[in-house]
Amino acid sequence: MDDAKRRQIRRRIEEAIAELQAQINGLEDNAKPVSLDEPIGRLSRMDAIANQALSGRVLAEAKTRLSRLQRALVAVDSPDFGLCDECGEEIPLPRLLAMPEARRCVDCAE
Ligand SMILES: [Zn+2]
Repeated sequence: MDDAKRRQIRRRIEEAIAELQAQINGLEDNAKPVSLDEPIGRLSRMDAIANQALSGRVLAEAKTRLSRLQRALVAVDSPDFGLCDECGEEIPLPRLLAMPEARRCVDCAE
């Protein structure tokens, strides 16, 4: 992979990390336990609990992706970055730009 591609992917990873971190900050507010002291009705409390559970799941996924992206950011300079873990072929650039944390080509990922 040439340097121009690496730079392009690195930029994409940094953007994705910034987006995720903003998303995680917002989700962490929603995922806080629902306080029993808050004067809200029973239905809205159920809503709040459902929202909190959903936020918690989305938050866990976002954190998993964030740690993969952080690994990708470290790995982007290594010679074998962008090679499929399974078959060793180059992962096509459009896939790496869409999903910089991808470790396998589309064929092997299926
Ligand atoms: Zn492969």
